[in-house]
Amino acid sequence: MRPEWHSVEDMDVRPFWLAGRPATGDGELTVTNSLDGRAVGVYSVPTPAQVEEAVAAAHAVRQEAAALPIHVRAEALSHVARRLAERSEEIARLITGENGKPILWARAEVGRGVATFRFAAEEARRFSGSTQRLDTEPAATGRLAYVTRVPRGPVLAITPFNFPLNLVAHKVAPALAVGAPVIVKPAPATPLSSLVLGEILAETELPAGMFSVLPVPNDRAAGLVEDPRLPVVSFTGSGPVGFAIMDRVPRKHVTLELGGNAAAIVLADADLEWAASRVALFSNYQAGQSCIAVQRVIVERSVREEFVERLLKAVEGLVTGDPADEATQVGPLVSVAAAERVEAWIGEAVAAGGRLLAGGTRDGAVVAPTVLADVPADALVVREEVFGPVMVIQEVDGMDEAFALVNNSAYGLQAGVFTRSLDVAFRANRELETGGVIIGDVPSYRADQMPYGGVKESGVGREGVRSAMEDMTYEKVMVLTGL
Ligand code: NAD
Repeated sequence: MRPEWHSVEDMDVRPFWLAGRPATGDGELTVTNSLDGRAVGVYSVPTPAQVEEAVAAAHAVRQEAAALPIHVRAEALSHVARRLAERSEEIARLITGENGKPILWARAEVGRGVATFRFAAEEARRFSGSTQRLDTEPAATGRLAYVTRVPRGPVLAITPFNFPLNLVAHKVAPALAVGAPVIVKPAPATPLSSLVLGEILAETELPAGMFSVLPVPNDRAAGLVEDPRLPVVSFTGSGPVGFAIMDRVPRKHVTLELGGNAAAIVLADADLEWAASRVALFSNYQAGQSCIAVQRVIVERSVREEFVERLLKAVEGLVTGDPADEATQVGPLVSVAAAERVEAWIGEAVAAGGRLLAGGTRDGAVVAPTVLADVPADALVVREEVFGPVMVIQEVDGMDEAFALVNNSAYGLQAGVFTRSLDVAFRANRELETGGVIIGDVPSYRADQMPYGGVKESGVGREGVRSAMEDMTYEKVMVLTGL
């Protein structure tokens, strides 16, 4: 079944969430579907005064939030997981509408959102402090250190368009788990699923002020970034925006989850059929709009021909089209402008001598799954983040050259290595300059509880429920004397 489309006049305006309550502001924005430009939702935009109210409420509730019993936090998180699961089909359709991702992937995203909140409920119960005896030196005889982790303060969560629910979950769930108020600023193109999350959060027993979802345009977000009452900024998005935020507020605790040009290495001992099918799918899933989509495919020369033959067959087999169709694997990009940019980058690579082995065409916001070979190393599709369904095949003599190619990048999020050798796996882990190394699969693999993040231009800090909880807190020590 397809999502039902409406004209804007038929649509209810979705409220935003201000300190736990639904509210409407001074304007409305329409979310459109990139495939055909039709409206999929209308949302209300908070005023600057309402933004101020949300920040003041988060600041005012911070100590109450930090003191909230663990069972209350864990129950609230479990409630969110349950309700997301109950409403999963509705939310998946909303994500397909706002983002253009195939319903197949939208359902998977809601499932991951459920898991993220479930992990957070579990971690909230485990997250505790320690005591440390200090009488290791005579001068500290009779002293004991009591160590707890304390929220750094209210969290500003700024999120991108490509996973409009689960990347919000990756900030909201750990914040609530540690007892930190959180203000979400979703991507303006895709705020609808985060507004449903706000609705579900409002059903919990969390104190008012502990969460707000404010779909403000970027020009109204500057005040949020600079406000000293929000000492933690957790940002996922593009490098230029993320680093500009960090430069603007150098005294804040800023976490940046940014982009990449992830590589999959296929060595001669790999299972070529498995590697080809995984590379084909994860270069193109969500039309390549994932920070860990396969962009560079680095294959050992001795198996290149056989691998590329299997890869092209797998790419040919991908079902491209309307994201609302159950069978679609590759849908449109988030906008026609994004697709035009990707098309231009393909054109640049071809003009520089690159050979098109598949795709290269565009129809509106849909770019055909594209495979390029013989592209010079300084072309944009090699050097920068494509964020489209494009992969570049590079040939190497062995793993030394492969590792050097991966590291010869401004980015370092994750890398995938298809090999059956444990020795190679450990070497890859030692030598690849990335935040994660995935052995036997594509770099696009992410489990929501694992530490996740990049080095170099790919970011600062780590997410993953437990890592984010540590990141949003600091260790506080109380020394007891005279024991
Ligand atoms: P973007 O940088 O354009 O926007 C991200 C968020 O920042 C949005 O909410 C946007 O409205 C907001 N923003 C923009 N300008 C701002 C400003 N001046 N002040 C405050 N907020 C501002 O990114 P995008 O196009 O939405 O997302 C795509 C990017 O996100 C890609 O580079 C992708 O690799 C990256 N990404 C990274 C991860 C990760 O975990 N590392 C995950 C998903 C996406």
